[in-house]
Amino acid sequence: MFRMSEKPLISANEIRERVATLAREITAAYDYDILLSALTGAYMFTADLSRELANAHSDKAVQKKVVFIKASSYGDSTESSGKLQVRGLEKVDLKGKRILMVDDIADTGTTLLGLCKMLKEGGAQEVRTCVLLNKQERREVDITADFVGFEIANEFVVGYGLDYANDYRFLPDIWTLQETN
Ligand code: 5GP
Ligand code: MG
Repeated sequence: MFRMSEKPLISANEIRERVATLAREITAAYDYDILLSALTGAYMFTADLSRELANAHSDKAVQKKVVFIKASSYGDSTESSGKLQVRGLEKVDLKGKRILMVDDIADTGTTLLGLCKMLKEGGAQEVRTCVLLNKQERREVDITADFVGFEIANEFVVGYGLDYANDYRFLPDIWTLQETN
């Protein structure tokens, strides 16, 4: 059984402010062609980030694609299984493109590293990564996200798109999930 923390770890307001700042940081640093987002956990973050990226651009006619792929590791566990399954990438023309890879969270880093490898193998010219949350303590593979919303401790979090077995995704704040005995 799991119990939610009494207060949000990160409030909707804090998220809103940080995502707007993050969009300005990205816009100042990286002129990408495609924002590639990993469903499902990153859906809410991507919706907000893409609007803020548009706001951060002075030229509203700027050509930036937003493309979703499905990245998953099997099961409903709070530990990622390490087996990365990606769908939808075969339809994306990566050749010579600069990619902004967006995901919800870098935990062990396996997903992000796996995705980066696939994008480079697919002919992407450049890949930079953006995650809402980073759990540095949990890292098992050598990858550093280029743009990070929040650094968090080694806790399982839900809300703002992040789920436990598809529950909690719709919450506007980010909460910690604690195991009860
Ligand atoms: P990694 O491959 O970095 O170990 O794990 C990345 C994926 O595991 C994330 O995209 C996310 O789906 C899931 N994940 C890792 N940590 C958490 C967490 O604290 N909460 C939730 N809901 N998912 C997590
Ligand atoms: Mg994910």
